[in-house]
Amino acid sequence: MERREMKAQGAPQCCCGCGGGVHKCDVAIIGGGVHGCSTAYHLAKKGYKVALFERDYISSGGSGRSAAGIRHQFGTEVNIRLAQYNMQVFKTLEKDLNYPVSLEYDPAGYLWIAYSESQLAQLEKNVAFQNELGTTGSKVLTPAQIKEVAPHLNVEGMLGASWNQEDGHINPHTLCFAYADSAKALGAEIHKHTPVTGILMKGGRAAGVHTTKGDWEADSVVCCAGPWSVEVGKWLGLDVPITPERHQILITEAVERMKHPMTLCLDDGSYWKQCPNGTFMLGWGNPEEKKDTEYTSSWDFLDEVTTRVLAKMPVLGGIRLVRQWTGPYDNTPDFQAIVGATPVPGFFLNCGWSGHGLQFGPSVGRILSELVAGEKPYIDVSMFRYSRFEEGDLFFETACI
Ligand SMILES: Cc1cc2nc3c(=O)[nH]c(=O)nc-3n(C[C@H](O)[C@H](O)[C@H](O)COP(=O)(O)OP(=O)(O)OC[C@H]3O[C@@H](n4cnc5c(N)ncnc54)[C@H](O)[C@@H]3O)c2cc1C
Repeated sequence: MERREMKAQGAPQCCCGCGGGVHKCDVAIIGGGVHGCSTAYHLAKKGYKVALFERDYISSGGSGRSAAGIRHQFGTEVNIRLAQYNMQVFKTLEKDLNYPVSLEYDPAGYLWIAYSESQLAQLEKNVAFQNELGTTGSKVLTPAQIKEVAPHLNVEGMLGASWNQEDGHINPHTLCFAYADSAKALGAEIHKHTPVTGILMKGGRAAGVHTTKGDWEADSVVCCAGPWSVEVGKWLGLDVPITPERHQILITEAVERMKHPMTLCLDDGSYWKQCPNGTFMLGWGNPEEKKDTEYTSSWDFLDEVTTRVLAKMPVLGGIRLVRQWTGPYDNTPDFQAIVGATPVPGFFLNCGWSGHGLQFGPSVGRILSELVAGEKPYIDVSMFRYSRFEEGDLFFETACI
């Protein structure tokens, strides 16, 4: 609040000692994860002069630390419709952006496994809804059918699964780099290692950003800072209801490619897949994990995840582990994103993607560019509005862990 009032007085001034006035752009973006980079690309494509600020390196936050699963399989209308768009875009994104490095798009399939009648009933409901909205390929499998798509799986105790062969994997780093580099090629400024430290205000509007390398005046500011959006919101007196939560993943040495899709077990929250380079990625959502954004990893996770996954995939016994890492979920009260305008004119949010936001980069980057341009978004995302928390109008995504 103090910062807001301080910056609200007079014209924004540059404090970097460059000797010049303030830098100028149309839209300033905070955060170089998939949402910041995709938003920058889509705005630049519309002809906006964009400046993106990432305090560390591109993809250093949740995006680069994700399991990079991509899927049609969601349980709410808005996510199913956005997912249809994302999955279509992923098929040709590398070619469409003319990107010289592989995005590793790999439609190796995605299984959601149920061990109880209630889990199976929810998966059946989700699949029926996906099909009703026009998703092709989503279906419910019996244990015998699960064995056909994932022959190495121990199906003991499984009642069924939902499945879509077109779902799978993308490389989260090259996805972010591809959007950032393509935005740059269209004229966007990409400032790495440049933390935003405040929002410039003018006449009650967000009018730019204050960074460690100077001030940038802008007509609009878009905050794509993941769990750190809470801090950015505070500068403006906004209460962004995000709770960070650590999640850990590990990766094995590469082994011969075997037929194995992304597999997620609803009984204990473990998931694993074989990546295109032959490594296996193992994850597990520990409900007791600390609610912060620290990046430290634990032995407990190593023990827990390997015990769980090996019980379901014994063929992985003896495989060597290479590394382990931690990333933050940015959980909201209903595990749905916060997208759109805020009570501060000129200030937009695109954050709160909880544990499933990497794959929404393509669709929601486009939507942010439409919202900033004052256009009607191609898919209605008003249910993601910031005010829903105050209004008590939460809507829960059932297909997330
Ligand atoms: C272990 C794990 C597994 C996951 N698995 C999946 C999955 O399989 N599929 C999926 O779709 N999603 C998955 N997710 C979720 C996904 O990673 C996130 O929802 C998504 O990447 C969020 O992207 P973002 O751009 O909103 O945020 P981030 O990628 O977190 O980017 C925010 C950026 O803002 C920067 N920043 C913060 N403050 C400032 C500041 N003041 N100035 C400048 N920059 C700042 C940060 O450094 C960061 O780079 C997973 C996440 C984790 C942690």
